[in-house]
Amino acid sequence: MLKTILNVIFICLLLVGGINIIGSVLVLMDVPFFTRWDDWTKHTDEKSLEMIRDGFVFILLGAIYLKYIAPKFSKNQPKPPQYTKCPKCKEVFNYKELINGKCKNCKEVDTINIEEYFKKYPTELQDKNE
Ligand SMILES: [Zn+2]
Repeated sequence: MLKTILNVIFICLLLVGGINIIGSVLVLMDVPFFTRWDDWTKHTDEKSLEMIRDGFVFILLGAIYLKYIAPKFSKNQPKPPQYTKCPKCKEVFNYKELINGKCKNCKEVDTINIEEYFKKYPTELQDKNE
């Protein structure tokens, strides 16, 4: 819920930033730009430049949020296993390279998420460490 609200706020920020820049550039070029809440043709050049600067700041903030902060919210969702191990041939695979998690060598054998695997066969982990 919080994530949705934040997303909307920052997407609005990106849009407002874009409108600021486009509108101000048009006004600087003597092309009238009107919005519902303000008549931008009355802006001085100085004000237009300020709005362009603000526009870039808004876009930068929005971009930082979407790139670095928004992905953190989805961090708690369960991730698909990355590495899996075949209980038969003991081969470790990257899960993405397998079809339905089946072992490439043994065909019909299901591989097991590496963390699950060592919970199931803790002795193998000990063998490895020794
Ligand atoms: Zn196998």
